Amino acid sequence: MTTGTAAAPLLEIADLAVGFTTRAGHLRAVDGVSLTVADGEIVGIVGESGSGKSVASLAVMGLIDTAGTVTATRLRFAGQDLLTLGARARRRLAGAEIAMIFQEPMTSLNPCFTVGFQLKESLRVHQRLRGRALTAAAVALLDQVGIPDPAARLEAFPHQMSGGMCQRVMIAIALAGNPRLLIADEPTTALDVTIQKQILDLLVALQRARGMALILITHDMGVVAETCDRVVVMYAGQVVEQRPARALFARPRHPYTAALLDALPERALGRRRLPTIPGVVPGIGDRPDGCLFHPRCARAQDVCRTDRPALAPDGAGWVRCPLPLGDPA
Ligand code: SF4
Repeated sequence: MTTGTAAAPLLEIADLAVGFTTRAGHLRAVDGVSLTVADGEIVGIVGESGSGKSVASLAVMGLIDTAGTVTATRLRFAGQDLLTLGARARRRLAGAEIAMIFQEPMTSLNPCFTVGFQLKESLRVHQRLRGRALTAAAVALLDQVGIPDPAARLEAFPHQMSGGMCQRVMIAIALAGNPRLLIADEPTTALDVTIQKQILDLLVALQRARGMALILITHDMGVVAETCDRVVVMYAGQVVEQRPARALFARPRHPYTAALLDALPERALGRRRLPTIPGVVPGIGDRPDGCLFHPRCARAQDVCRTDRPALAPDGAGWVRCPLPLGDPA
């Protein structure tokens, strides 16, 4: 199943499942995720903690450890079948053509080495640069990500820089391989509010300047509203809705999407209390029968407690609910 734009996608995922063997048996953290990302597109993957959005991305990067199993009917990047690619070729691809940045820049950088050493290491591996060309490329990348006095900053250690500056360095390292796809996993969550907007603006500016695709993983619908072309909403390991951002914000169809949007402070103006979604995302070993969202859904019917809905085409998008809200957009 393909759930995205009609043009040949850069990334194509169909029925991705990621399972882990535990004492309670084989449990699926991600179950049947299908999505596509076109060249130069910004796709937001949104959901609460435990929705599986990070695990799905780690599977694309080939970073699920040996305790996990990854299956899919289709997992293709730039025409290459990632399911049959050898381990070496997969490692070459991840980090170069597909790069990823994470939530905690301070822990992603090695505290024992200078920023310059770590950035140059990445440039050495991906672009095989040496000597002055290597230093010039490192300075140029730090400059591109908005680090002032970049030549001097090459000698700085991570602890001598702020969280925002460290995230800029991580972005520079991710760009060292000239990726066609950058996956940013909660890239602003650990940062001060004032810095969050700067990092988001930087990611969008780099995405436009380089024409690369960007997957932005976040729990924050506000972040998605400002940046994304298309939004994929995940819940308990499944995609529950996906559609162009404008349509999703104007007319959400899945009750979970609507609840996430209702919880945005700007949509609650005049209300005394900010709406919240009762309960929590069920854990990997704790998933209910029927629709996984039914214990928290105000619209749940008897059928929702027994039948697991499939992801179905719906207007310009897809929805996993036989009783969606309003009309499709
Ligand atoms: Fe709610 Fe039922 Fe739709 Fe699930 S299938 S989201 S419980 S209405």
